[in-house]
Amino acid sequence: MKFPYFKKQLSLIPYGEKLSIGATPDFALEITDQSGLVYDILCNCNGINTIGDIYNKLKYKYNDLDIEEVIDITDRLSSYPLILEDYALTVESSLTPREIERHSRTMNFLSNFDYLGTEKVNYMKKIISSNVLIIGLGGVGSSLAMNLAALGVQKLYGVDFDKVDLSNLNRQLLYSESDVGCLKSEAAKKKLDMFDSSIQFTTFQLEITCMEDVETLIKEYNIDFVFCAADQPSIWIYKWINEACLNTQTAWIYGGNSEASSYFQTIIPKETSCFNCRELNLKEFSTEGYLKYTEVKNHGYATQNNCLAATSSCITSFMIFDFIRYITKFETPRVINQLFTLDYRDYTISYLPVKKNQMCNCR
Ligand SMILES: [Zn+2]
Repeated sequence: MKFPYFKKQLSLIPYGEKLSIGATPDFALEITDQSGLVYDILCNCNGINTIGDIYNKLKYKYNDLDIEEVIDITDRLSSYPLILEDYALTVESSLTPREIERHSRTMNFLSNFDYLGTEKVNYMKKIISSNVLIIGLGGVGSSLAMNLAALGVQKLYGVDFDKVDLSNLNRQLLYSESDVGCLKSEAAKKKLDMFDSSIQFTTFQLEITCMEDVETLIKEYNIDFVFCAADQPSIWIYKWINEACLNTQTAWIYGGNSEASSYFQTIIPKETSCFNCRELNLKEFSTEGYLKYTEVKNHGYATQNNCLAATSSCITSFMIFDFIRYITKFETPRVINQLFTLDYRDYTISYLPVKKNQMCNCR
C-alpha cells in the first residue's frame, strides 16, 4: 500500500485498552491496542503519508518502534474489509478537482461497497457519465431529479406536459409558489440549473402517447437508464416504456405511490422479467385479477393523488439504490423479477414475485 488512507466515514474510538473501528454493530472491529499505536497509525493514514512517513512521525513517541511493525499493522488492517484503501490508486482518475470535492462524500459512501478503495472513483465516473431519462416530473419525478442531480448524474433528461398547480406543492419538491401556473418542464430546469450549474438538464414539454415517443428520446439522447415516474395513462405508460426499453435494450424502473403504499420494479431487458411478463402472468394465473386489470387498462379509473413528499422521497431512495447498483455494476439490482412494495400503515416491505413469462417477447 503506497499511500494508506483510513476511510474517514468510519468512527475510530479508543477506549480502555481497546480500539473500536466502525459503528455498525455487525461490522465494528474491536481490537486490543494497549499502547495506542494502532490508533496513531490510523490517524496518520491520510492518503498523503507513506508507510515511511508514518514511521518517522511515530518513532519518537514509541521508542522501540520498527518500520516492519508499521508495515505489519497496516497490512493486517487492510486485510479487514473496508478500513484502509490505497489513495495512490483512487486518485489516479480523470475526475477534475471540482468533481473530487463535489462528490467526496458520495465516494465515501460508495467505498462502503469497495474493499480496497480501488473502485469508488470508477463507480463515481460511471454515475457522472450516465444519461438518465425521467418520465414524469411530479412527486416521484421531482424527488428522482433532485436525488440524481445530487448523486452526480451530469446528463439528465426530464419529460412532463403539465403545469405546476398549488396542490402539487405538498409533494413535488422541484417547485415553489412562484412556479404555480408555469410549465413543470421549465420550472424543473430552472431549479436544477440553480442547484448545480454543471448539470445538463434537458427538459421536454411533452405528453407521452405511444411507445415511439419514448423510443425516439432513448435513441436520440443515448439514454442509459429510464425512470418512469408517471402513472397516466394507467398501465399504458408502463407498457409503452417497457416496449421502448426492450427495443433499445435500456434498463428502467417504474415506481410510484398507491393509496398507503409505494412500489417499484427494476427491469433489465433480456436479463429480468418485464412489465409485459407481469401482465401475461396475471392473464395466465388470475382470471379475476386480469379482468380487473383489463378494465383499468381500457378505462383508466384514475384516482386523485394521495401521496406526500415523504412517501415519494422514500420510494425514490430505493429506486436510486437499484440504479446505483446497475450503473456501477458493484452488485445486481435488488428488485428484479419482483415488485417491491412498502406499506406506510405498518412499514411492511413485501416482494411480489414477477416471473419471466414464457410467452413474453422479452426473452
Ligand atoms: Zn417480459
